[in-house]
Amino acid sequence: MRIAVIVISLVLMVLLFAQSCTVTAGGSLAEDESISSAGAVGLLVAFLFLLGGAFVMGMPRLSAAMFWIAAFIGILAGLTTEFADLLIWGVVAVVLGIMARLSVRAPATDAVAADEAPAEQRAELTRMKVCPECAERVQPAAKVCRFCGFRFVDPEPAA
Ligand SMILES: [Zn+2]
Repeated sequence: MRIAVIVISLVLMVLLFAQSCTVTAGGSLAEDESISSAGAVGLLVAFLFLLGGAFVMGMPRLSAAMFWIAAFIGILAGLTTEFADLLIWGVVAVVLGIMARLSVRAPATDAVAADEAPAEQRAELTRMKVCPECAERVQPAAKVCRFCGFRFVDPEPAA
């Protein structure tokens, strides 16, 4: 999933970068400042795609945030400027942001593995008997409580 986000974002970044340069150059040739600035916004969105792709491995939440900022800028600029293609780029950024966000939950299997050691410790604790005098847990085979010196006469029925 994350690799896919990196590849897609980098490919799109290059495409958007090229398109934005063309738009910017076209705008300055036509001496139309609104088109040039729309091209500059496109470059900014391309840069956010690059950041989103760069962060997705280590910091997928930040990566998703980058894509959503790119989406916001792209959609806004697409609706308000001559560079209407930015609207499409914005929608693509939303999808990439969702993909990056979903990849946050991927390492759930690691969390399960990490839980196994405490579970073993818990099993160890439940096997131990509780001293009736001081309520501390002592080894099931102990004849004397190591905390208060209480002598166990009868073996614990629960053990
Ligand atoms: Zn005790």
